[in-house]
Amino acid sequence: MTRPLRLGMVGGGEGAYIGNIHRLAARLDGHWQIVAGAFDADPERGRAFALSQGIDPARAYGTWQELVEAEGAREDRVDAVAICTPNFTHYPIAKGLIEAGFDVICEKPLTATLEDAVALEALARDSGRFVGVTYTYSGYPMVHEARVRIAQGKLGAVRTVQVEYPLEWMSKPIEQDGNAQAAWRTDPVRNGRGGSIGDIGTHAYHLAGFVTGLTLESLTADLATFVPGRALDDNAHVMMRYQGGARGLLWSSQVAIGNSNGVRLRVFGDKGALQWFQEQPNELIWTPLDGRVQIIKRGADDLSEDAKARSRTPPGHPEGYLEAFANLYAGFAEAIRARTEGRQPGIVGQNLPLAKDGLKGVAFVEAVVDSHQAENQPWIKPIEV
Ligand code: NAD
Repeated sequence: MTRPLRLGMVGGGEGAYIGNIHRLAARLDGHWQIVAGAFDADPERGRAFALSQGIDPARAYGTWQELVEAEGAREDRVDAVAICTPNFTHYPIAKGLIEAGFDVICEKPLTATLEDAVALEALARDSGRFVGVTYTYSGYPMVHEARVRIAQGKLGAVRTVQVEYPLEWMSKPIEQDGNAQAAWRTDPVRNGRGGSIGDIGTHAYHLAGFVTGLTLESLTADLATFVPGRALDDNAHVMMRYQGGARGLLWSSQVAIGNSNGVRLRVFGDKGALQWFQEQPNELIWTPLDGRVQIIKRGADDLSEDAKARSRTPPGHPEGYLEAFANLYAGFAEAIRARTEGRQPGIVGQNLPLAKDGLKGVAFVEAVVDSHQAENQPWIKPIEV
């Protein structure tokens, strides 16, 4: 299949946060053409936005149900649909699309409830439809480099994983001042049970598991809501035990003043350590035991094929967030084409975040909130001194 794939979108209309990132990422490598959409909760706004994007008026839909029906009847129907709407709508929209035979690219968290996530993952599996989940940070070449190095045993046995995702943007009660993004993110029905932990903790949790290959065994969590009147956590600390004995510590915060998207991952093994900071995404910091701290740069000749296949510019010409997101779209296109052509996907179509990873994220949020709310949470006071 040499033609670009046809992409439809649900959500991501005028004023939306992540929709335009999807459009930029989908277009970057020419694998996708955006040809249809139901871009807004308001049908008229959605149609008007579609026209502003150059979409054929016949494919500018008012609702996702219209999109399913009309695209399903076309010979040149969309190959996949990206869901860029608030969390609680992911499940019904994805279900409707999958049942109508469409492949799906879904935003994280996969769903607002664990029940929906279990059902959606089962539907994806049973239907054979492709369901990719946009865990952005797994698109970076140097994150893949870290994953490969750990899988090759360069760090030895992983002992501890520190991962954090601090943001400052909800340090004030902006949801009470009409901020559209904060309004649904602080509503347990539209967002799900986990505030910061669902919104950004899921990114951090996926990143840590993706890079290390570790499987979570159990966790204990402490959630806090610092902004008065807020219904969900805006700060989370989670201690994790991985199968095999490694330990993890995850921090997500929407009230971390001074931080924009300060994702940080540090992995310590018995032979060395790796660190990756998303605000310096072209670098991986590697320290062998008894050795010196080294900076491994994107574009170096001795990087893994996994990292090289996800790089576009020569060393020193920085790549970042959009390219990482585009790597997910390139991977989704490759996976869909490989399935259609009955072959194994090439390297960019491997190690993609899929429905199962989405389900793991929602299950993680559920466990974190359950842990925090558990009556027997052990908090031990030291003796008074
Ligand atoms: P937003 O509120 O800015 O935008 C949501 C958009 O969806 C709006 O255009 C709205 O009109 C539209 N919409 C809502 N219901 C709809 C429906 N039934 N049909 C059609 N359109 C509908 O939200 P956002 O911040 O862009 O977040 C959207 C999703 O993306 C969330 O699940 C969020 O967690 C996720 N997200 C992911 C990342 C990432 O890094 N991968 C970053 C930000 C947001």
